[in-house]
Amino acid sequence: MKLENMYQEIILDHYKHPHGKGLADNFDAEVHHVNPTCGDEITVRVTRSEDGKLSVSYDSMGCSISQASASIMYDQINDHDFEFGEAAVDHLIAMLQRSVDADEDILGDGIALAGVAQYPARVKCALLAWMAWKDAAIQAGFSNSTSVNDSNESNKE
Ligand code: ZN
Repeated sequence: MKLENMYQEIILDHYKHPHGKGLADNFDAEVHHVNPTCGDEITVRVTRSEDGKLSVSYDSMGCSISQASASIMYDQINDHDFEFGEAAVDHLIAMLQRSVDADEDILGDGIALAGVAQYPARVKCALLAWMAWKDAAIQAGFSNSTSVNDSNESNKE
């Protein structure tokens, strides 16, 4: 089987059987992101746990790429800390810009989205869930490590 076909199978499988879909009742932050060029929509909720990990839940609708990507996002970054998730988001972006080779250790089934880089109009479909997660995490109080707006406030534990 060609690699491209195998990737198609992975995407279709996540699309038909999404992992972790359904919103949690309790959450620290919620965002709703829309990809108007395709009509994809996602709501993401994140909850901080005491050990610094973030649980994620989501509900979404849209094309097969956006739905599969949301399912993969859940698999890869649910119950991890912010730095882990942010690194995965950054790697996915770089992969879709073709500036890095896909790393399965970081993206899991997300490497199946590598082919989307050939279709610039669909890149937003693949990124929607991951960008929504990052937005929700930041709203839940996790700081963006690359932020240049840091004030001199001391870090409170
Ligand atoms: Zn889409």
